Formats: sequence, structure tokens, C-alpha cells
Amino acid sequence: MSVWAVLVAAGRGERLRNDRLGNDRPKAFVRLGDLPLLAEPLRRLDDSEWIDSIVVVAPPEWEEPAILCAEEVGASKVAACVTGGETRVDSVRTGVREVPEEAALIVVHDAARPVLPPEVVPRLLEALAEGFDGAVPGVPVTDTVKRVRDGVVAETLPRDELWAVQTPQAFLAPVLRAALDARDTLSQASVTDCASLVEARGGRVKVVEGDERLLKVTTARDLERVAAWL
Ligand code: C5P
Repeated sequence: MSVWAVLVAAGRGERLRNDRLGNDRPKAFVRLGDLPLLAEPLRRLDDSEWIDSIVVVAPPEWEEPAILCAEEVGASKVAACVTGGETRVDSVRTGVREVPEEAALIVVHDAARPVLPPEVVPRLLEALAEGFDGAVPGVPVTDTVKRVRDGVVAETLPRDELWAVQTPQAFLAPVLRAALDARDTLSQASVTDCASLVEARGGRVKVVEGDERLLKVTTARDLERVAAWL
């Protein structure tokens, strides 16, 4: 049973650019140690015994540097490198199109979460083996979360039911493909993860134990935190 990973790295990373004046690279190509940030999640997916092949989704005009980056870290499982789209969902869809029909499972990961601990992918795959359509890593929310409109609290949400969800997210390949191809998906610019597309179609998604090191790099401060975990 083959497991393909789609690594989405086509975001512009506006906040990081604003934090680091003069840095005009997309987020996946800012420096993390001696290499572009992309090198870290790529190497970690490539090292995972659970992943058979990888599709990298690069920003427009950064496909070549992405391939060079894969070569530099010796990522031998990279099967394709494609150009991302306007939104994350567009980028995932483009990446998933490169996954062959016979692939059973697809793992979608954000390049912006470079520190992928090796135990996370098997946790996700175990949930799929249990019969779930999808699986996501999550950590319980520790802050109190409120819905705020125009600076005024509209609602306080019950914290015991709230989890912060990360990537990688794993799915039965046909389920993810159907969710990405659904007509209503095409107009959903606000969708921030793949699981919500699967949920919207009635798919059952299990939350497995996540990891604080799966922090998504958004600011220069996040980049420093991640660098400390390498
Ligand atoms: O923008 P956000 O932080 O949600 O991005 C999460 C991940 O999705 C990042 O790894 C980013 O590179 C990727 N992304 C993408 N194509 C886009 C937007 C985001 O591949 N158009």
C-alpha cells in the first residue's frame, strides 16, 4: 500500500517578509541554519520509513531552487515538483494531481512546519488503519478562546472541546481527491486545512497527539524557535 506525501511550500509568507526587511524570498526559502527552510521538512519526510514518494509544491519561479534543495539534502523520494496556486487549497489540489491513482494514502504537510517529529506520521496512519477517512495531529488549546466581532466579545467557546490542529494530515486518497474536486470547494478561499474539506462532506477525521514542535513559522520569532529545535 503506497503512501504519498504532498509538501506545500507555495505560500508567500508576507508576515515573515515584513519582519525581515529586505527579504524578498518566499517563506519556504528563508534561511533556517545553512539551508532554505524547505530543506528541513523535505529531509524529514524523505527519512520517514512510512512515506514512499513526495510531491513538492513550489511558488511560481521557485521550482528549480526547490529541486536543487531536494538534491542538496539527498531527498531521493521526490517524484515531482509542481507550481502552487493562489490559495493553499489550490496548491494542495495541484500537488495531489501528481499522485498516481494507485496510491492508497496521501499525507499533506506544510513546509512552514519544518520540525516534523518522526512519530507523528505513524500515529496518523494508525488512525486510517482503524477505519477513519482522515487523521490530523492536534494539541489541546490552553488559552481561553472567544469569538470577537469588531473588538467586542460575541461568545466564549468551551475550551475543553477546542484543539489546535496541525499538519501533516493524512487521508484515504480517494476521499481527499473527492473533497478537493467538489464543486463547493472551489469557491472556499477561507479553507485553511484539508481536513475541513473532508469533514464538510461527512468524512470522519480522527485527532491524534500532535507536537508543539510542529509550530507553523509565521514570524521571525517563530523561525528562531524552530531553529532552536533542530
Ligand atoms: O498561509 P499558510 O500559513 O496557511 O500556509 C500554510 C502552508 O501552505 C505553507 O507551507 C505554505 O507554503 C502553503 N501554501 C501554499 N500555497 C499557497 C498558500 C500557502 O502552498 N497559495
